[in-house]
Amino acid sequence: MNLQNYNRVLVETKSYDARLVAVSKTRPVEAIKAMYSKGQRIFGENRVQELVEKKDLLPEDVEWHLIGHLQKNKVKYIAPFVQMIHSVESWELLNEINKRAMQHERVIDCLLQMHIAQESSKFGMNLEELNSLLERLQSEGLTNVRVVGMMGMATFTDVIDDVRTEFRYLKSLFDTTKETFFKEDADFKEISMGMSGDYDVALKEGSTMVRVGSLIF
Ligand SMILES: *Cc1c(COP(=O)(O)O)cnc(C)c1O
Repeated sequence: MNLQNYNRVLVETKSYDARLVAVSKTRPVEAIKAMYSKGQRIFGENRVQELVEKKDLLPEDVEWHLIGHLQKNKVKYIAPFVQMIHSVESWELLNEINKRAMQHERVIDCLLQMHIAQESSKFGMNLEELNSLLERLQSEGLTNVRVVGMMGMATFTDVIDDVRTEFRYLKSLFDTTKETFFKEDADFKEISMGMSGDYDVALKEGSTMVRVGSLIF
């Protein structure tokens, strides 16, 4: 791990009262253990199989977050232990997470992933998809998932103004959603945005959770 960068990102993140998700995908268990020994507890992985394999090799009090695209048929493998899923993109997926969480008598925190980038390759919902998911959630209700906020990935670019615009858009979507669907719900408070190249911009724009990997490992 890069201790100097880790400390810098941590101090900055804390100064905004936000949390750091250390993105440990592709990193060896030894590197994760080193960061754990510095006090880091939240780790993010983007592949189910890798997450399941690493989980058993690390202490019980690690908080595992799934940050990447998740297929419905793989939810069952992480449902027994995952703390938060950042990448909910459909009602069907949310419903599956709820069903599997129920089997383990757990409640799993979920973020709604929005498409905010210019690239068409990035995952996430548009406004219409978001609203139809929220309307179903409101009418049907789910007991074993807690929708705690939103996630987004900005365009991969050096043009910082473009990135800032996309983060502002996600923040405005969050605010509108909070007002319309979660007004009385104190749990709906997270905005997961910002990675190695843009976490500082994200924090300024209201991120509560940055997902940083290459810079700190
Ligand atoms: C890999 C990844 C990150 C971290 O990216 P870095 O540029 O290495 O900080 C954050 N979020 C998601 C969804 C990722 O897949």
